[in-house]
Amino acid sequence: MDRNTMYASLGISPQVLKFGEEIEGSLQERFRAIDERAEYNQLKVIRAMQKNRVSDIHFAATTGYGYNDLGRDTLEEVYASVFEAESALVRPQLISGTHALHIALSGNLRPGDELLSPNGKPYDTLEEVIGIRQSPGSLKEYGVTYRQVDLLSDGSFDFEGIARAINDRTKMMTIQRSKGYAVRPTFSVEQIGQVIAFAKKIKPDLICMVDNCYGEFVETIEPTQAGADMAVGSLIKNPGGGLAPIGGYIVGRKDCIDRASFRLSAPGLGKEVGASLGLNQCLYQGLFLSPTVVAGALKGAVFAANIYEKLGFSVVPGADEERHDIIQSITLNSPEGVAAFCQGIQAAAPVDSFVTPEPWDMPGYDAPVIMAAGAFVQGASIELSADGPIKPPYAVYFQGGLTWYHAKLGILMSLQKLLDAGLCALKGGDKPLCRRQ
Ligand SMILES: *Cc1c(COP(=O)(O)O)cnc(C)c1O
Repeated sequence: MDRNTMYASLGISPQVLKFGEEIEGSLQERFRAIDERAEYNQLKVIRAMQKNRVSDIHFAATTGYGYNDLGRDTLEEVYASVFEAESALVRPQLISGTHALHIALSGNLRPGDELLSPNGKPYDTLEEVIGIRQSPGSLKEYGVTYRQVDLLSDGSFDFEGIARAINDRTKMMTIQRSKGYAVRPTFSVEQIGQVIAFAKKIKPDLICMVDNCYGEFVETIEPTQAGADMAVGSLIKNPGGGLAPIGGYIVGRKDCIDRASFRLSAPGLGKEVGASLGLNQCLYQGLFLSPTVVAGALKGAVFAANIYEKLGFSVVPGADEERHDIIQSITLNSPEGVAAFCQGIQAAAPVDSFVTPEPWDMPGYDAPVIMAAGAFVQGASIELSADGPIKPPYAVYFQGGLTWYHAKLGILMSLQKLLDAGLCALKGGDKPLCRRQ
């Protein structure tokens, strides 16, 4: 079987393959730039592992309290080195990105403090953490108030608004690097550095935390190298490299990390406890693979943006735009478009390719969400996945792919499903048309 027949046997028509490969051919320079960053970040990770003398003894399992877990403590040193931070908390006991963000916030905020978001509404699940949407156990219930400054209409920070919002109760600023479920640009590390410098000029002791989800290793520097006191993320996204089966990280200033650790375990215990249960090797090896995995995901995102922009759909980031995270949003204009796209991603998966994704009311989200993921790790969005809330503008958020080849297959399959559903047409191969609702 030759390669084209292989694609056909998986359900990709010759027409879709030809259309996709013409676009792929035009992206070679973009792909080379992605590979160069991956090379730099690979060296950065290896250097951090060498500096901290990682050895196979660190892969041993601990149980119970997990006192003196050398592997866990060294992994945290490795993360601190990679992020050029003083300290890190990297734990399987941080069960998700939301949990890690909750721990970083609630560990560092006290009753009477105010939290500021300079990028408008934060990621959906944080609304309940903060108490923007009423929720038992929210920061609001503990007397922490919240204020947000919306982005300007061009997607940039409203510096004047931020200056007005900072008051003597403002203790922390939470900056979200990635767009999440919003159609706005993702911030570069440099832009994040600018808003932090601006806010700290007004209030030098302001704790600046960056929600770094989906941003790790996309650039050659991380927010902690641009003034952030903490950066927080999930290990089933970029830095777990697809191998971490669970976990989150918080890196940054030692006092901030210590306070987060007292919240995670208990006052007085902090980082001293928490068995690694045999997961250390996956966490080390996943971090080691992460730069190349992120590169594959980025190629997929660039490929998808170019395909769907050419077909007339609105895409963020745009086909030629610089990347600061691995997420690609595509506005498909209808619930059917979102469903067809997600069904294509699912049909291309190595796991659960035979199931059909349907929208459901997920905890933490305010509209039904459809999710496509045929993942080895449940919900891992560094693996090829797509999701979208079923609400206007009917945008799908696509991310991941442990390899570029899988990402390519998934995107071609999504296009195939849109064509099959009559939501889009490729006329004569060179005059693509898409039907807008
Ligand atoms: C994924 C994500 C989160 C939450 O992470 P979970 O692991 O899904 O809880 C928070 N913020 C942003 C920007 C994200 O992309």
